[in-house]
Amino acid sequence: MDTPTKNKIAKLHPSVRNEVTNIIQECDTALTGRAKVRVTQGLRTFAEQDALYQQGRTTPGKKVTNAKAGQSIHNYGFAVDICLIIDGKIASWETTKDWDNDQVADWYECVKIFAKYGWEWGGNWKTFKDLPHFDKRGFNKWQQLAKLKLDKNGYVILL
Ligand SMILES: [Zn+2]
Repeated sequence: MDTPTKNKIAKLHPSVRNEVTNIIQECDTALTGRAKVRVTQGLRTFAEQDALYQQGRTTPGKKVTNAKAGQSIHNYGFAVDICLIIDGKIASWETTKDWDNDQVADWYECVKIFAKYGWEWGGNWKTFKDLPHFDKRGFNKWQQLAKLKLDKNGYVILL
């Protein structure tokens, strides 16, 4: 697992850090060869979410999200976005490539491993498909997370 990935995992909600570490290790083992998983986004603060929401609205650029601060599962540290690093250097978001030649697309191998641990894939969403995105089932309704109290580090306290 590379340093950017470790750093992102270290800021996820404390209750899922070990689990995500295990998931990524299992994915890397399953991919056996050229591709390794990198976590490109984990926790996104409320301020970062707001800046993203303003993009294409009050600041330059194209709209990238409809989620305001507090409305993304990333804001609570229960979501990750991934890409694959090929041969240790090239980032890939290709979801259909079979880098290890085992007749299953590497991305889909990861989807299955995440699913085994109870993580939903954004590629299964009905309306807007978010292919790099995974979030933890049971903790992926922002309306519920928003009601919880925060600990001193700003993470929601699970009941
Ligand atoms: Zn995401």
